Amino acid sequence: MVIVMAPEATQGDIEAVVELVRSAGGEAFVSRGVHRTIIGLVGDIDQFGALNLRSRKGVGDVMRVSVPYKLVSREHHRQRSEIWVGGVPIGPATVTVIAGPCTVETPEQTLAAAQMARRAGAAMLRGGAFKPRTSPYAFQGLGEVGLKILSEVRDEVGLPVVTEVVDPASVDLVCAHADMLQVGTRNMQNFALLQAVGSAGKPVLLKRGMNSTIEEWLMAAEYIAQRGNLDIVLCERGIRTFETATRNTLDISAVPVAQRLSHLPVIVDPSHSGGRRDLVLPLTRAAIAVGADGVIVDVHPDPAKALCDGDQALAEEDLTELGAITATMPQLLGRALTPAPQPAAAASR
Ligand code: PEP
Ligand code: MN
Repeated sequence: MVIVMAPEATQGDIEAVVELVRSAGGEAFVSRGVHRTIIGLVGDIDQFGALNLRSRKGVGDVMRVSVPYKLVSREHHRQRSEIWVGGVPIGPATVTVIAGPCTVETPEQTLAAAQMARRAGAAMLRGGAFKPRTSPYAFQGLGEVGLKILSEVRDEVGLPVVTEVVDPASVDLVCAHADMLQVGTRNMQNFALLQAVGSAGKPVLLKRGMNSTIEEWLMAAEYIAQRGNLDIVLCERGIRTFETATRNTLDISAVPVAQRLSHLPVIVDPSHSGGRRDLVLPLTRAAIAVGADGVIVDVHPDPAKALCDGDQALAEEDLTELGAITATMPQLLGRALTPAPQPAAAASR
């Protein structure tokens, strides 16, 4: 941490700040410039936070030089991490495709979507049973019934399942059926939920809050890590901007930025970011080209009849093209497409 004293700060102000820092167990190194004095602080940054340094007499500015998240940072963990979900890796050597319906509607629809996911080259299945909907009048998901459908379909098609958990009370229930827990954009700063999934012992897919900075996203990951769970995959899913042509604005630069700041894998959701079927394939290409460790894509056997997010779901006719992208682009970037596990492997998890 660095304190920049105001030009009018007196010698007494400087000494008072130094004394304050030392009384909190830190060390203070004073460098006098022509116009300003700078004080470098070494010690426990959280202790310094309680000193309210910015409001002290003569202090111009206070700046952090280290990141506020520790466990998910690359500062002390140079190697990028690989996370395993039901025998499927997500990490720097591969591109992992996760696909499935936005929401579980019926056993038939979920099975058909899972088979589409396999045909698209997916190694994991997505699908929501608990849906955090903006409107209380919109379909809220099938809940536990949906989870059972998902685990039956997982056993049939052999793809590990990621599904959303919306509150701490349902974490155990979702854990009983899922291979990975999704925390959605609307819950990225639900700290009780982050702590609960941190204690749950399952990998977590943490979507970026639509109004959150990258630092806030990494702090949310830190909540999960702090409970002992480092099996976290970050997902950039678009943020709110002034632009209305797309549902959200895919912040493509967040992928390399987050990968530079954190050792956790980063994937992209081209479906919820663009919100339009015609954008899913171009945004998938962009995600792989920028270095994403995977993509998560909505597919539906009959998008026109989908109960949720039909406008962005890929239909059967889009799958050949998605398969062509995922089969060819990763190699161009020195990565391998993560293969789908053998059905028996997933069933005997
Ligand atoms: C979803 O993946 O189904 C979903 C609701 O995503 P998000 O939280 O990114 O809106
Ligand atoms: Mn959706």
